[in-house]
Amino acid sequence: MALLDRADWYDIARDTNWTPKYVSEDALFPEEQSGALGLPLEVWENYDEPYKVTYREYVRTQREKDAGVYSVKAALQRANFLDQAEPGWVSILKLHYGAFATLEAMASSAESRMARFGKAGGMRNMATFGSLDENRHGQIQLYFPHEHVHRSRQFDWATKSMHTNEWAVVAARHLFDDIMAGRDAVGVALMLTFAFETGFSNLQFLGLAADAAQAGDISFSNLASSIQTDEARHAQIGGPAVKILIENGKKDEAQRLVDIAIWRAWTLFATVTGPSMDYYTPLDRREKSFKEFMQEWVFGQFERTLLDIGLERPWYWDTMLADLDTRHHGMHAGIWTFHKSVWWDVPPGISRAERAWLEEKYPGWEETWGAHFWDPIIARFLKDGPVETVLPSMVQLCNMAQVPITGTPGWAPGKTGRPLQDFPLEHEGRLYHFGSAVDRWIFQQNPDRYKDHLSVADRMVAGMIQPPTLEGLLDYFSLKEGEWGEDALSHSWLEEYRQEQAQAA
Ligand code: MN
Ligand code: MN
Repeated sequence: MALLDRADWYDIARDTNWTPKYVSEDALFPEEQSGALGLPLEVWENYDEPYKVTYREYVRTQREKDAGVYSVKAALQRANFLDQAEPGWVSILKLHYGAFATLEAMASSAESRMARFGKAGGMRNMATFGSLDENRHGQIQLYFPHEHVHRSRQFDWATKSMHTNEWAVVAARHLFDDIMAGRDAVGVALMLTFAFETGFSNLQFLGLAADAAQAGDISFSNLASSIQTDEARHAQIGGPAVKILIENGKKDEAQRLVDIAIWRAWTLFATVTGPSMDYYTPLDRREKSFKEFMQEWVFGQFERTLLDIGLERPWYWDTMLADLDTRHHGMHAGIWTFHKSVWWDVPPGISRAERAWLEEKYPGWEETWGAHFWDPIIARFLKDGPVETVLPSMVQLCNMAQVPITGTPGWAPGKTGRPLQDFPLEHEGRLYHFGSAVDRWIFQQNPDRYKDHLSVADRMVAGMIQPPTLEGLLDYFSLKEGEWGEDALSHSWLEEYRQEQAQAA
């Protein structure tokens, strides 16, 4: 039987909506699930997805992709790449799987919301495939780390993390509940696919695939590019939805959703990707600094996408660019200091050669982070041996990003970076703390949405973490011995400084 070309039937088939007779349009597409902002079905019929694919094509391509990735993995399994891999790369893998495997599976349900409640036929079609994509990403990223669990139980956090109250997991859940699990179809289209995927994760996976190839991890490199090709397709669900909103007088609403999601994605990237690129990746394999990557690929490209589509730069754009000099350095310093609180071993990344690189990429790093954060730790370690670096009291966490509030140690006017500053807000008798004016602004957009959440610091104060000690906290995080992070180099990096000290004496 001759098959019609896709172009001959696709537009008609995917736009074949029925006119509801027994229920109202609002009953079929309730606002709280569709988020159509009152725009009727006819308006959404103008939605034109840039990427068109049929079910037959989709299944064939995906089948080939899966066959490719799984067979490469099977072929390389006996090579035991991970046993010789650099510690920094192993940490990146553990961090990645624990942070994203289960969230990818959760993204399947967010895509399903668009597949059912999106008023545009094209959105429903694309999102059906998107939902299958995310299910695949969940499965594949749970399956791949499983072979490594016998090497380290930290790999088990691919499955375990999202079921715990570990602090970085609480932060990730707060973010993805906000842009994914707890949003209507249009909210998901704008915040997850347009802002997060187009702006951030698509490029993250491109970068990861390249980094993995550099590190010699062919298996993971294949996995990352296989995921990225899906991401590049279903990320395009959001753009046409933005256009419909702008054309129908809803630009402010679209801009607000996008602004919230971009900042939230940025704080996640600074926590996860920043330390990975600038501190974990072995020095001789670093292609770009995190700042260069963000400026060129993420912010630069996304800025053009925003303006092309008819939106504005978020009002905080300059604040975000300036944050590239502070936030991820602070996140790294905090995570290394409290490495027991995460499920991966944390490389310090501060050998003399690495510090020279940091100073080159971030002029002023030495006189702030070097002199005021790392040097005192090194001096103490040289004197007393590698002693506990956990702070005796709970650090201040942001009530939006759920991560420590950061500043540049040793900062003074004229130096790069910014001071440590809390942006407080009193709301209905409760005092909230934020790490930036933007986090506080997000809260103010819809206080009811966020006001009842307790940060891990709030939970400690409320007596929910017992006993209120380091042991009690690690137990609350569900981090057992063998799972909590260590210094990834077992403090062997101190030797260089010990020799320096000996020569100076
Ligand atoms: Mn995905
Ligand atoms: Mn996705």
